[in-house]
Amino acid sequence: MYTEERKEYNKKYYQANKEKIREKRKRFYQENPKIVNGWTAKYRKNNKDKCNLLSRNWHRKNRELVLMHYGKRCVCCGETRQEFLTVDHINKDGAAERKTIGQNGWKLYHYIIKTNFPDRYRILCYNCNIALGHYGYCPHGRSI
Ligand SMILES: [Zn+2]
Ligand SMILES: [Zn+2]
Repeated sequence: MYTEERKEYNKKYYQANKEKIREKRKRFYQENPKIVNGWTAKYRKNNKDKCNLLSRNWHRKNRELVLMHYGKRCVCCGETRQEFLTVDHINKDGAAERKTIGQNGWKLYHYIIKTNFPDRYRILCYNCNIALGHYGYCPHGRSI
């Protein structure tokens, strides 16, 4: 039977052998990627809503972290509502970068966090970002 006591024991055991357990799991995954991916897919299928919500929250949190780090404000027009904000590549190397890290927007946020917030990014709102991308300037008239 799965009692509270047992739960507590498992927790303690996990804390004490964290590295070992992680290492074991990793090795198992490396040796049996198909099995593990099968489990994951099955779990996702059975818990679709929960998984979607979790991943949405995770992506949103990553995005917030990145926006916060770069000042959470459009450097052109000063927009601060985060729903309007996006990350801009100062050196205009966004296309090349997407080839390495993938097309998905959320991957960029994850990548920025993983690489410890490099300073080749800045925050623009979507308006200024798109104007700059399509016309090479923003009609707000500031040199950005
Ligand atoms: Zn703007
Ligand atoms: Zn602008």
